[in-house]
Amino acid sequence: MRYRTPLLGLLLANALWVSATATASASDPITHYSERATALLRDAISRETVRGAGNVPAYADTLRDVFLEAGFPADALTIVPYDDTASLIVRFKGDGSSGRRPILLSAHMDVVPADADDWLRHPFELQEDDRFFYGRGVLDNKMDVSILTTLFVWLKESGFVPNRDLVIAFTGDEESLQETVQQLTRDYRDLIDAEYALVVDGGGGVLNDAGEAIQFQVGFAEKTYATFAMTAKNKGGHSSMPRADNAIYDLARAIQRLEAYQFPVETSEITMTYFARTAPLLNNEVGAAMAKLVSDPSDEDAIATLRAQPEYVGTLGTTCIPTMLAGGHAENALPRAVTATVNCRIFPGHTPNEIMRELQRVAENSELEWDVVGVPVSSPASDFNTEIMQAIGAALEPLHPNLPIVPEMGSGTTDGAYFRAAGIPSYSLSGIFINPKDSFAHGLNERVPRESIGESLRFWRAMVEELATNKN
Ligand SMILES: [Zn+2]
Repeated sequence: MRYRTPLLGLLLANALWVSATATASASDPITHYSERATALLRDAISRETVRGAGNVPAYADTLRDVFLEAGFPADALTIVPYDDTASLIVRFKGDGSSGRRPILLSAHMDVVPADADDWLRHPFELQEDDRFFYGRGVLDNKMDVSILTTLFVWLKESGFVPNRDLVIAFTGDEESLQETVQQLTRDYRDLIDAEYALVVDGGGGVLNDAGEAIQFQVGFAEKTYATFAMTAKNKGGHSSMPRADNAIYDLARAIQRLEAYQFPVETSEITMTYFARTAPLLNNEVGAAMAKLVSDPSDEDAIATLRAQPEYVGTLGTTCIPTMLAGGHAENALPRAVTATVNCRIFPGHTPNEIMRELQRVAENSELEWDVVGVPVSSPASDFNTEIMQAIGAALEPLHPNLPIVPEMGSGTTDGAYFRAAGIPSYSLSGIFINPKDSFAHGLNERVPRESIGESLRFWRAMVEELATNKN
């Protein structure tokens, strides 16, 4: 159990709101709620919610008080402690008139570590200039946490009643162990169960160098992350009496065979739609290769061009690459064991075991020992959901008419992979529009365009009205 101070949290929440509401009277709702979201973001950035710091529960408490203040009943708010972190679940009760299961909206409250000495601005203090907000987590993922919180407050304060329950799940360790999401899907399924999840982390609007919106990305799938240890063993001996058999040579030969091997090209509706819609935006040889691949998925030249691009090679199939080496025990001894760590990003539809067997076949040495490192997470691709795609189109229409909406497959693992693995189809998207060059997520001087606050609020309000209102 964790000691909590609800009263202190409530005072803090009040202080946040007072400063925001005092300046916002007589302005339009977007301006008013943008100011409230900014106040939440400022508070959020000041909390160093990195792994091991134990700062997430207090953040969750403060957010809980913001929901209480806006009129959410206490029994709609659940803090789920986990180790030194926590999740917050918020249920916005609908009238049930749609007869449909809830929509889950998720984001995460933790951030990756940041060393203040390396940053131009203090990472745990919201800083701003005329274009950007800066701070660890402004993009990943505290802006979206602040937006979703403010969205629920806005909906509640304007008397909105959805036609199905809307559920927020803010998790507490997405950037490290990803165990809070697993706890929710395993032990709190009744609280977070949903027809589908909108994971508000990643995806969203892409700006070009001129600041124009060029596409809106929606994550439908993530590759499975799996790591294998490949070990060559040998009886060893004295290095003054070398023999032909040697664990380092054995392992080196296996590594060379892996280097020469490429997993087969694979495509899916998601990746082909991604290539088809991204090709015309690139206007270069990579874009041309994407277009060629779409018309002929076996085109060798197109495949070679795309495989030479680190940012696209993963979209064409499974990849595995050695990342670490360990072995030997003395400079004058023949090695008894040598291990290479091989990290794989597996195309949806294959199990880690299937990929390990393929690597074993390629390595051509049945004496090698293979182990799975950690627990790989397989998640199926989510079905193409027309309702969500249409809602996104309608929500974008006022500000970005006819913007291409592009499905994508992530090469990492987010909370969405665990929702998918638990049978809840998940789609990653955000109302934030940013030039990928400006994002610096996980890096130094993380930033987000100031305009994203108002745009995101507008976008999510429209999304909720599209997805949770009865239309005649
Ligand atoms: Zn994130």
